Amino acid sequence: MSKTDYKNFRFPARKRIALVAHDSRKKDMLEWVKYNKTSLAEHELYATGTTGAILAKELGLDIHLFKSGPLGGDQQIGARIAEHQIEIVIFLWDPLMSHPHEPDIYALQRIATTYNVVLACDRSTADFIISSPLMNDEYEKVVIDFEKQRLKRAEKLIEAM
Ligand code: PGA
Repeated sequence: MSKTDYKNFRFPARKRIALVAHDSRKKDMLEWVKYNKTSLAEHELYATGTTGAILAKELGLDIHLFKSGPLGGDQQIGARIAEHQIEIVIFLWDPLMSHPHEPDIYALQRIATTYNVVLACDRSTADFIISSPLMNDEYEKVVIDFEKQRLKRAEKLIEAM
């Protein structure tokens, strides 16, 4: 078995948090953000279009808005994760409905796991995250170095040509 390479990345004390809620979970998200507004104010907030518009209007929060999820917002968050610009994702998705942007939902969950960012898909996990002492400290995350693996693979493929 070949050796796994790892890379370290530092989460800043002020986290970049992405908030996404499917329509049936938007009320849940609004309640959760309202309850945790003071803690969340210590961090930088991002959201998909409709979720963010509701949070900004109802709670007067300063939020960076991406496009609406079905219009590419989930993918924009995924791209930020791949660039190490988002540390936490609170993604209240609806497990009982099918969605036109199903591939984007899976892609966001997959890329969050690939880059070892913090991901909550329900309120109880989100509660544990927001109350963690790590929320307001720097944190050293360890990620499998997939890029190195891909480069090794490219070399092998070139050799075999
Ligand atoms: P929305 O997107 O916040 O624009 O509704 C959420 C989603 O469905 O991914």
